[in-house]
Amino acid sequence: MVLNMAISKSDSMSFVSPTQTYEFPFDQRIESHPWFEVGDAIDGEAAKKYLALERQSKGLPHPYCIYVHVPFCESICRFCALYTRGVRVNDDAVFDQYIDFVKQSIVNHPNANTGLGPTTVHFGGGTPLHIGLERFAVLTQTLKKAFGSPQSCEWALETTTSSLSHATLEVLRGLGFQRIHLGIQTLNDRLRKYYGRHESGEAAIDKLRFFLEQGFLCSVDLIIGFQDSTEEMLRNDLQRLYEVGIRMFSICELRQRIGKSLTAKQHEEQSQRNYHLWRIIWQFMQSKGLVPIHLGQFANSQKSNLYYTHPARSEDCVAIGPYAHGSSGRLYYSNKLLPDYYAAIQAGNSPIEKAVLYDDCLEAVLDLERELLAHQVSLKTLNKVTNVFSCSFPDLLLFWETRGLLLPEGDASSWTISAEGSWFIGNMIMQLRKIAEYHENV
Ligand code: SF4
Repeated sequence: MVLNMAISKSDSMSFVSPTQTYEFPFDQRIESHPWFEVGDAIDGEAAKKYLALERQSKGLPHPYCIYVHVPFCESICRFCALYTRGVRVNDDAVFDQYIDFVKQSIVNHPNANTGLGPTTVHFGGGTPLHIGLERFAVLTQTLKKAFGSPQSCEWALETTTSSLSHATLEVLRGLGFQRIHLGIQTLNDRLRKYYGRHESGEAAIDKLRFFLEQGFLCSVDLIIGFQDSTEEMLRNDLQRLYEVGIRMFSICELRQRIGKSLTAKQHEEQSQRNYHLWRIIWQFMQSKGLVPIHLGQFANSQKSNLYYTHPARSEDCVAIGPYAHGSSGRLYYSNKLLPDYYAAIQAGNSPIEKAVLYDDCLEAVLDLERELLAHQVSLKTLNKVTNVFSCSFPDLLLFWETRGLLLPEGDASSWTISAEGSWFIGNMIMQLRKIAEYHENV
């Protein structure tokens, strides 16, 4: 029973960057899909019951983080692919409705009131502060009351520099926030203007400097793949952000799809260019001693950055708000979209849209997936997956090794991911899951 992974030499593609030729092990870069396509699908009510039963049987929950999704922005940026809506700042009815329903979902969450507080609480979206500071404070206090907030818990907020005034910063400090994750995207003024950023690059840098001086942990999102962006712009952005004191970078790739706005050839050129820029980032981070710690993220170390790296720490995630994804034990779930989320809460039903439960075999896959995302793979986990999928996984491992995606470290008791592996990590994860899917189906 050998799994045909369709891996062959012909999968490699040569990509010619402005300065270098790269051998690509896949014909296109893909993102890993959520876990819903693997495992046994269950409905929202069953997922809610599972969470409650798990709570009863386990007593204290496994370490967990909380993710709160606030799906509102002042306007929608040209490049945004997130689940959010453009809402006027004075549209109180919209925001009040959100607060009412989300408060209900917090107090009724099966993981609330367990006595074990979260490790981190992240507000994302959307622009969470767009609901107004008072409502934001109510949300924060409701979470603290329901879940607790140990001293070690990191409270983090995703936002933009233009939405943070000195006064706002003081309120955030009072609420216990330590980290501000800023969607900088680019510091180039022409691009910032075109893509709807309200402040200049210099103003953003000044604000970052101020936030850092005020003692906040600051991390940034940068986007590669803007039309007309250049290698020089990227180097300049990285250097300026590093000089001001940023030590955690999250890199996203902006991709236009074939058929929508790009021809296949243009798409290929875009891929070449983006990968070339990724290599520049990788080299820059190495030269500054920053290491890859999670999907597209670089920091001093895994420990120095808790932001959005809970899978790498094997933690569960309590998902609050529409379109938030969560996990608990062997359950992986996603909440409903806004109107359905409200309707479910109003009717006393589960606001979970879809969920899957996975078994021992999938757990082995998930362990390896987490380690791949953390860019640190142990021999123990490789052996575990080899034991479960002895017919198929060795071929895949060989593919990763021979293509230089996975590299041994020191005595080969642990492995790390190369720059190329990091760029194609979604492809690697999907290959791994295919093995699990195949195994499930025989
Ligand atoms: S501010 Fe952020 S979440 Fe809102 S539309 Fe722009 S990129 Fe998307």
